[in-house]
Amino acid sequence: MALADTPASPASLDAFWMPFTPNRKFKQSPRLIVGSEGLYYDLADGRRVLDAIAGLWCVNAGHRHPRISAAMKAQIDVLDYASSFQIGHPAAFVLAQRLAEMAPAGMNHVFFTNSGSESVDTALKIALAYHRARGDAARYRLIGRERAYHGVGFGGISVGGIGRQRSTFGPLLNGVDHLPHTLDLARNAFSRGEPAHGIEKADALEALLALHDPSTVAAVIVEPVAGSTGVLPPPRGYLRRLREICDKHGILLIFDEVITGFGRLGTNFAADLFGVTPDLITTAKGLTNGAVPMGAVLMRDEVHDAFMQGSVSGIELSHGYTYSGHPLACAAAMATLDAYTQDGLIAQSAATAPYFEECLHTLRGLPGVIDVRNVGLLAGIELQPWAEGAGTHAQAVAQHCVDQGGVLVRSVGDTIALSPPFTLERRHVDQIVDSLRAAIAQTARPTD
Ligand code: PLP
Repeated sequence: MALADTPASPASLDAFWMPFTPNRKFKQSPRLIVGSEGLYYDLADGRRVLDAIAGLWCVNAGHRHPRISAAMKAQIDVLDYASSFQIGHPAAFVLAQRLAEMAPAGMNHVFFTNSGSESVDTALKIALAYHRARGDAARYRLIGRERAYHGVGFGGISVGGIGRQRSTFGPLLNGVDHLPHTLDLARNAFSRGEPAHGIEKADALEALLALHDPSTVAAVIVEPVAGSTGVLPPPRGYLRRLREICDKHGILLIFDEVITGFGRLGTNFAADLFGVTPDLITTAKGLTNGAVPMGAVLMRDEVHDAFMQGSVSGIELSHGYTYSGHPLACAAAMATLDAYTQDGLIAQSAATAPYFEECLHTLRGLPGVIDVRNVGLLAGIELQPWAEGAGTHAQAVAQHCVDQGGVLVRSVGDTIALSPPFTLERRHVDQIVDSLRAAIAQTARPTD
């Protein structure tokens, strides 16, 4: 299959099976990114577009951040690779310590992975092994939530709640159940931040525990703000209620902060914003600003310490990855954390969020806009579905934004998701919202 002959274009698109993509459709009219800088992507057709989704919810400090690029270039000339299996290199220890200092109090231990999916599977495995290490092997059940996205590992799709990502593969992990999702358009549409209604949805956990016997449940995992399903902030008090129920029954609580970690909500972690400390936090994406793959699982001291028993020559956890704590990823992550903290980008994220919220909610009342929801620099605009199929309305709006407004947004189901880099200024917020306003108006149908 040939492509338009720009110098940056490959001769054929056939070999690459693209993830989560309608490959045949994409390859008929491909859109390729050939460069990036700050808030912008350069497309192969010569256009520059504003990246309102930070890559894929990950480039929080903006593209090709000079501090991060310089750190990676310096690292590759000193140490390319070192295993973390029974040997180590200093940067992994320094980074782990930095993460422990950023994490909520009492979460002082870190396990490195290479992605959000690996972080999720690692956290689930640690939760199961934790109970076994304490002599409580009866706890094997895991509880996720409808509509949740926890990556694509077998653990992640088992606790995940997006039907197609599960049914495509047949039977998954045993002993998994799901809480109801928290979206409630009838009561909460156009909420700002945490919606007022829905704390009682956490009580569904008690019902599930009654069904299964709480002494068989190892862990509950939730995204504090569900991202990929369309940005669903938690109802007020919901996460605290989950924490209370887990505590009552000796169940570990895992927050999947792959999107919400590292300043997306204006605080280090969602746990800080909502004032609820889980037992484990999964991270990836913003950890290295998307510049190189890396994930990390942060955990409470009690979880880690349960493994530090028995013979000192025994391996405490039979788990790990060839690239756990990769030197290049550590260098990128440390520079990224410097940008977030020393350069004040998390503070900038928090400072821009109220203007972002104000502007987005002006979309209320446009044809087909059935909800606007937001927290920090994370937002979803839900559109009335069109008759020809789920997601078609949001896809049309997203396409219009990039083609006419020069703004790249992401359609997830019937929702337009926004998660811009923290470096955006008011004029960029204006451009994003103006482009959405035009796209929504110009694609509107009489039924909207
Ligand atoms: N968990 C959450 C909450 C995510 O949003 C994602 C990715 O979007 C993942 C896990 C999976 O991360 P990755 O694609 O790096 O495996």
